[in-house]
Amino acid sequence: MPVGTLASVKGVPQDLLEDLGVQILLGNTYHLYLRPGVETVRRMGGLHGFMSWDRAILTDSGGFQVFSLSELRKVTEEGVTFRSHLDGSSHFFSPESAIAAEIGLGADIIMAFDECTEFPAERERMRASMEMTLRWAERSKTYFEEHKQEVPWGTVHVGPDALVRAGERQLAESAELRSAGPFDSAQGRLPRASAPTRGVASPADGATQSLFGIVQGGMDLALRKESAERTVEIGFPGYAIGGLSVGEPREVTREVVEATVQHLPTDRPRYLMGVGTPEEIAQYASMGVDMMDCVLPTRAARHGLLFTSEGKISIKQARYANDEGPLDPACGCRVCGRYSRAYLRHLYAANEVLAQVLNTIHNLSFYLDTMRRVRHSIRLGEGTSSLSGVSSQPKP
Ligand SMILES: [Zn+2]
Repeated sequence: MPVGTLASVKGVPQDLLEDLGVQILLGNTYHLYLRPGVETVRRMGGLHGFMSWDRAILTDSGGFQVFSLSELRKVTEEGVTFRSHLDGSSHFFSPESAIAAEIGLGADIIMAFDECTEFPAERERMRASMEMTLRWAERSKTYFEEHKQEVPWGTVHVGPDALVRAGERQLAESAELRSAGPFDSAQGRLPRASAPTRGVASPADGATQSLFGIVQGGMDLALRKESAERTVEIGFPGYAIGGLSVGEPREVTREVVEATVQHLPTDRPRYLMGVGTPEEIAQYASMGVDMMDCVLPTRAARHGLLFTSEGKISIKQARYANDEGPLDPACGCRVCGRYSRAYLRHLYAANEVLAQVLNTIHNLSFYLDTMRRVRHSIRLGEGTSSLSGVSSQPKP
């Protein structure tokens, strides 16, 4: 999942993301809650309507950002009081208010409110934090079950393109009705004449968001197992492994993922939050992880760091100043098909906005290609941990 923190994958318009084959995006509840505010997004039909994106969206619960970004946070059993990193204003997130925000944002997959345990931490601290995350998971689920009908799907999409697309959908629907025979007003079968809706999903059809649970337990493998089992007991349609990529060595991340994923049901999506490099995502997929998100491809791109089949490239290096070759000869993306390394290096050195746009498009393409290869290997019954052409080592 590419990360679209503020309802935008920085530098890349939505139609281009569609062309690249992005199927699902991640938005950050903490950021969207602060700006533009949940109510604004809700009135626009949720994130789908607001950002004109018909494909899937996942929002995190805000827990991770509260713990990593905001200062002066105070955690109690009830929830977390924190100060905005924007203006210092005081706010409060509880499992209930975080889920309310996620329902208002209207993503397809939403996450339970959890406490991300800091690293390093003593075992007693890891246990206490894990226990609270379990209690918060129960509260998240209870609130969600009572309020899931309030998702703003089925309300107006804004933007002329969205309206045109919705109009086409209505035309197709009324053509279906016509071909099905004369309109039967006695049965009240009215074509959807009201505002365009988010695809066919609406609470009236019984469609709701999916609330995923999150496994915590710090870096303690026994606690991870217990957290996984007890989260599965609460019961969610999907499960995430949280609390990683918080400063621990990569080897520890791998151990914890391996020890956790085996206790999560194989017939539910298993989501590893906040990883990783191209070879790491192939490795985690080989362990059974189905979903991942990471800011790395987009953030690195903005700093001129590009993932290629030959290794990682820092495009600002003088060695590329006269390099006529494509960024990655093995990449089929529109950037590699059109521009030279020399041009990309020039754009970056001159601080042109286009540098960030093109770099991001290539890195996203590289990640999406990596995942396509992973899926292909899985279908062929092959291992995915040693896919050729997946490397984040610096190019020699
Ligand atoms: Zn490319």
